[in-house]
Amino acid sequence: MDKIYIENLEFIGNHGVFKEEKMLHQKFSISIEMETSTRRAGVNDDLNHSTHYGFVSDHVEKVFFSKSFDLIEALGEAIAEEILVNFPLIQKVKVLVKKPWAPIRKQFDFVAIEANRQRNKAYLSIGSNIGNSEENLKRAISLIDSLKNTKVTKCSSFLVTEPFGDVIQDNFLNACLEVTTLFTGVELLENLLNIEKEMGRVREIKWGPRLIDLDILLFNNDIIELDNLAVPHPWMCERSFVLDPLCEIAPNIVHPLERKTITTLKRILDKSSN
Ligand code: AMP
Repeated sequence: MDKIYIENLEFIGNHGVFKEEKMLHQKFSISIEMETSTRRAGVNDDLNHSTHYGFVSDHVEKVFFSKSFDLIEALGEAIAEEILVNFPLIQKVKVLVKKPWAPIRKQFDFVAIEANRQRNKAYLSIGSNIGNSEENLKRAISLIDSLKNTKVTKCSSFLVTEPFGDVIQDNFLNACLEVTTLFTGVELLENLLNIEKEMGRVREIKWGPRLIDLDILLFNNDIIELDNLAVPHPWMCERSFVLDPLCEIAPNIVHPLERKTITTLKRILDKSSN
């Protein structure tokens, strides 16, 4: 991916944990590296197709003077978020915050933090089979869309599906969503679990009836294997209530472990269940 750089923007500020740092002020030097395609701007020689580094610098300055941060980690985080929120052509950003006069009684050039942040794209499966399932799905979509720095960018149709497993229960209504978010995978999961709780879901029987079920199917091209989060979702390739709606909104996305498109995975599943 192409990049736009801003090297060593210098500001005097009062960021630091110690009260002396807050009073005396010191020098900070901030470098920004932004991943974006420069192709269209380059071919057309037109700034409208690029990101104006002057405006980015103004935003960095605005964040820098917005408050006294204790940590350069927090300053770097706030700058990265400001850039991703305000400059839609930037896919990834690297923010380097250097503090050359940090309070260390040693010889050194600078201390620094580097924050690498990006716009994430996730696919979610949503389902309900208790109460008014259509209303439940719509409410969940609206709650997901109003999460911080998160947007629902695509929604499949709502499909009536038969329940999975041995528990006798009503049919489900299922759908898939495409979501862009600045949350990490784990943060997104925590927010989805909160929405499930807020909507009144009670966890009882495995594969039993549920007011709302929100699962992360894919998160960028990432493979995540944590105690509380597995992505790609381990059972997504065996479930037509996932692959059917997912195929409507992401037919050509490649499953990072299977190395097959969603269309191909759906075809394989359809064939095996006939
Ligand atoms: P369930 O509601 O039955 O789908 O189970 C939710 C639990 O599965 C949560 O507590 C998560 O920690 C865990 N989990 C693991 N991977 C995922 C995933 N990709 N999406 C949602 N929940 C997950």
